[in-house]
Amino acid sequence: MTRKPKYIFVTGGVVSSLGKGIAATTIGALLESRGIKINLLKFDPYLNLDPGTMSPFQHGEVFVTDDGAETDLDLGHYERFCDVILTKNNNFTTGQIYDSVLNKERKGEYLGKTVQVIPHITNEIKSKVTNLGKTTDIVIVEIGGTVGDIESLPFLEAIRQFAYDVGKESVIYIHLTLVPYIKAAGEFKTKPTQHSVKELRMIGIQPDILLCRCEKELSPEMKDKISLFCNVKKEAVFSATDVESIYELPLLYSRQGVDEIIAKYLNIWSRSAGLQKWKKIEENRLNPVGSVKIAIVGKYVELKESYKSLNEALIHSATASKYEIDLCYVDSEKIEKGEVSLLECLKDAHGILVPGGFGVRGVEGKIKAVEYARINKVPFLGICLGMQIATIEFARNVCEMEGAHSMEFDRMTSYPVIDLMEEQKSIQNMGGTMRLGAYNCMLEKESLAFSAYSSDIISERHRHRYEFNSKYEDDLKSCGLKITGRDKVSGLVEIVEVEDHPWFLGCQFHPEFKSKPFSPHPLFRAFVEASIKNREKS
Ligand code: GLN
Repeated sequence: MTRKPKYIFVTGGVVSSLGKGIAATTIGALLESRGIKINLLKFDPYLNLDPGTMSPFQHGEVFVTDDGAETDLDLGHYERFCDVILTKNNNFTTGQIYDSVLNKERKGEYLGKTVQVIPHITNEIKSKVTNLGKTTDIVIVEIGGTVGDIESLPFLEAIRQFAYDVGKESVIYIHLTLVPYIKAAGEFKTKPTQHSVKELRMIGIQPDILLCRCEKELSPEMKDKISLFCNVKKEAVFSATDVESIYELPLLYSRQGVDEIIAKYLNIWSRSAGLQKWKKIEENRLNPVGSVKIAIVGKYVELKESYKSLNEALIHSATASKYEIDLCYVDSEKIEKGEVSLLECLKDAHGILVPGGFGVRGVEGKIKAVEYARINKVPFLGICLGMQIATIEFARNVCEMEGAHSMEFDRMTSYPVIDLMEEQKSIQNMGGTMRLGAYNCMLEKESLAFSAYSSDIISERHRHRYEFNSKYEDDLKSCGLKITGRDKVSGLVEIVEVEDHPWFLGCQFHPEFKSKPFSPHPLFRAFVEASIKNREKS
């Protein structure tokens, strides 16, 4: 008998930013903990082919997969919570769906038919879901946007048809909604949820489960009311209360029986959820022995979503060391313009981090922050642009290469210590053309990197166009810059370290994409440990 996969569709209503991605991945984690093989898929109803060309202010972080897809930040949550390695097949935008349909049309694959949203676009959407179903027990599909948006209609229509195609017994619909508390009335209000479910039902989708985002747990009476008005069984109306940490969610959902109901509705026989690893994280989080302060010197500080994976990676490492993390965002542009004092911002940071980024704005402020970390022996981690900045700072201030810079920011510099990669020079298009995805890197034995990874070969993800200019390698090395990691094939410099410093490391790749709460990334672990040590010293 062939195995028949099951499908969970997650939609969101009332307002955006309710955390559909986190809800979807929490469900994934719970099902995995019951021994079920899952995969996750996100549809984004916008026309860009991927978020790679969007400003972080518009879209937040771009999450990069091993195979080099630039994807939505929710995929970061999927990989952190679940035991999945995602690829370009786990995230599709409206743009990509139309792109493949139009390519087929040009090839004549529609045999003279009029190409339409229904059935051609909806078929294309459904094929992405079915494709993942071939290799897994349950596919969890998150539909981006909010029910009622014009843009998400083809996706909702496709998932409506889906249950019709494969049989309702293999499909459930979970709707994440908001039950606001109105202070003046002293009451929770269910009307927005009723309307949002009505909207779904109008397009032929009856949700099976409601996850109600709310400040406090809903009373049985409220659940009764929601159940009645929304035509959802009372046992399937859950309170998704606000939490301090997203890593509490698998425990919170499981306590209420969310995974039990899913198993029941999908008719799955499995063991009950084994949540030991989640409990361990909670225990550490709730019993910290101290707090460590990390300054993140970047340009997108008002928008924490831009550094999502980075924040999470720091939290994972601090929690593993039983520390609370005090993340302090420093706007490098303000330092650059002298609007804030560098010393004021950094004086009580136990560790300093310069993350990835693009564009010249704020770069001089970042260089100052690196100089501060190097001279004052504060643990430093530079990621991607952060590594390039560390190289520039070292060239200027240690090797006396006055005006050293990256060709990204100063084409006239006399010391282009960071240069455009050779293979990038002929590229015209902006979208999807960076050096993307996982590459192997060889580590030097005598290095901070090797002590962190305990391995001499690692694989990490990339997203950049510029690189360490090997013409300056000897000069920089003779002044004390250590090159401790190189791309296995091209020899490109991947990691730099500084001698006579407790912990100073810059890497061209993005380690933050591979950190998980129960297996924090080795570089973040080592950086946070060094920062904790620095704290104890001071
Ligand atoms: N702007 C730099 C480059 O393209 C760094 C990119 C990044 O930090 N992701 O090489």
